[in-house]
Formats: sequence, C-alpha cells, structure tokens
Amino acid sequence: ELYNKILELKGNIRVFCRCRPLNSEEIAAGASMAIDFEAAKDGELTVKSNGAPKKTFKFDAVFGPQANQVDVFEDTAPFATSVLDGYNVCIFAYGQTGSGKTFTMEGTDEARGVNFRTLEELFYIIKERKNQFRYEISVSVLEVYNEQIRDLLVPGQQPGVTAKRLEIRQVGEGIHHVPGLVEAQVNNMSEVWEVLQTGSNARAVGSTNANEHSSRSHCIHCVMVKGENLLNGEYTRSKLWLVDLAGSERIAKTEVQGERLKETQNINRSLSALGDVISALATKSPHIPFRNSKLTHLLQDSLGGDSKTLMFVQISPNENDQSETLCSLNFASRVR
Ligand code: ADP
Ligand code: MG
Repeated sequence: ELYNKILELKGNIRVFCRCRPLNSEEIAAGASMAIDFEAAKDGELTVKSNGAPKKTFKFDAVFGPQANQVDVFEDTAPFATSVLDGYNVCIFAYGQTGSGKTFTMEGTDEARGVNFRTLEELFYIIKERKNQFRYEISVSVLEVYNEQIRDLLVPGQQPGVTAKRLEIRQVGEGIHHVPGLVEAQVNNMSEVWEVLQTGSNARAVGSTNANEHSSRSHCIHCVMVKGENLLNGEYTRSKLWLVDLAGSERIAKTEVQGERLKETQNINRSLSALGDVISALATKSPHIPFRNSKLTHLLQDSLGGDSKTLMFVQISPNENDQSETLCSLNFASRVR
C-alpha cells in the first residue's frame, strides 16, 4: 500500500537519462568527459564546469557510458508488464542527433534495444500467463515527418510524396485512430523481427541521406494488445508506443531556408508540444494541449489518465556538445 502511495505521488511519468560513451574519433581528438557519473546510483549526474558553474540534475535513473542494453532494459521491463495489465504506455528517446536515441530504441544486431526487448518481454510474459490470459499482438510502424504521417509497413511510400496521406480521426470518446494504417499481427519473435526490419528498411526509402532524414523525423512503433481473461471473460485493450524522436538540436537559424526551415520549425514545434503536454500532465493542469502537433495528437489516448510514460533523455559526454546537453537536461527536468 505504501508502495502504491509512493507511485501515486510520483505520478506516471518517469525520466531516465542515458549518456553514450566517447567514440573513437572523439578520443583520438583528445575530447574529455564533461559529465560526472559518481552519483549515478542515486539518479544524479553533474555537468562539469566549462568556465560555468557545475550543474547537478536528478532523474529516476541515470545510465552512464558503461551501462549496456541489458542494464537499461532491466529498468524498462516493468513497462512491458503494465501493457499486458491493460495500461497504455509511451516510451520516448529524446536528445540531439548522435546522442544514442536509435541505439537505445532500435539498438544494433549485436546489442538490441528497447523495441526488440520490450516485445520479447511481452511474449515471455504471455507464455507465463497462458493458463489465465489470451493475448493478440499487432504492430504498426510509422513516421512523422514535416507533420505528415507515413506508414512504414507499406512499401514504396516516400517521405513528403506519400501516395496515401494518413490522418488522425477521433472514433469515440478518447479513442483516436489512423484509418488505413497497417496493423501487422505478430505471433512470435521471428515475426516481430521481420516487421521491425521492414519498418527500418522503409525508413531510408526516398531520402538521399538516410541519417539526415532520420534526424528530422519521428520514428514510431505502436504495439496494440488485446487481452482476454479466460477466468472471467473480461477484455483489455492497450497500446505501447515506442518513439525515436527527431534530433532536438536547433539548427543554426541563419543557415536554413525554404524546405529546411519548414522542417526545422516542424521539429521544434512537435518537440516543444511534447514537452508542453508532458509538463501539463505532470503538474495536473486542466488543459492539456494535445492538438498542437501530429505527434501529441497521435499519442493523445496514451498520454495522461492512468497511462505510463517513460522518457529517455539521451546525452553526449563530449564537452563540445555541452550546450546541447544542457538544453536536453533542462527539457527533461521540465517534464519530470
Ligand atoms: P541518434 O539516434 O541519437 O542520432 P545514434 O543512436 O545513432 O544516435 O548513436 C550515434 C552513434 O553512437 C552510433 O554509432 C551508436 O551505435 C553509438 N552509440 C550510441 N549510444 C551508445 C552506447 N550507449 N554504447 C555504444 N555506442 C553507442
Ligand atoms: Mg537516430
């Protein structure tokens, strides 16, 4: 009971901070770690002075450069249980380009990330519960780029020139839906892997520079869960959103014009809309501005109420990135 009270007091929003290691180029260039992780166990990190005074931040968890995918998933796994218990869950990765958002969410073949591991955990729990519950899982993979939704499970849809323009419709009280979006039913991890690969490959289609495109768009996996309690015949429906956000860096304003300027404005708009929504939820504000961006509109049913939110704030340890790092940490402190 005490535990429940503490959870209630803390609300349903958690923020984990993860810092990538210095890469070989940075090490070769003699870059030094600008962040102190001595108190990481207490959820604290300190941005060391760079002329400026030191600044300490506190989060629900802090993962330093030594933390691996298994360490991170240990603290993420409870959210998978919540989804099967009928809660909606959103997991975001926020941070500047190159800070490890995709590494945390998608991971690599050798070091799979939160997307794969969460689905693996779902199937593991489903097996454990098979005498009491039956579940059906389906997955959609989509991208929000320039305030347009693109289905990544439909072949040949190029960013900006989508054959099919997907829109968000409200189909009932608190139920939003994207008509036409592919929902691929998955029965095991090899089917999951196939869907994840299809989505990931489709993301690069039609962009001249895949990295640049991915830094300017939000990549979203939606896992839909239908549960049936075999003992009492009750049904649950819940959603898990896994979101690799666009890079949070503000592109030097003088350098961008035309298409680029529009992209930049859309990215800034959707990231600040997300920050506004989460902080309004955290402070229990009566008005939650969901409609200010496609991203928050899409996730509306799964943000707030008894939904659970986990935000990974990704940062770089490099002192050259310090001003972006401080921006990201300040953003994260605001939503907590
Ligand atoms: P982002 O998606 O935020 O732009 P990436 O996930 O692509 O950043 O990470 C940039 C590079 O750093 C990639 O080569 C990635 O593999 C590597 N990287 C990021 N985080 C880690 C980590 N925790 N451990 C090892 N390598 C990492
Ligand atoms: Mg990325």
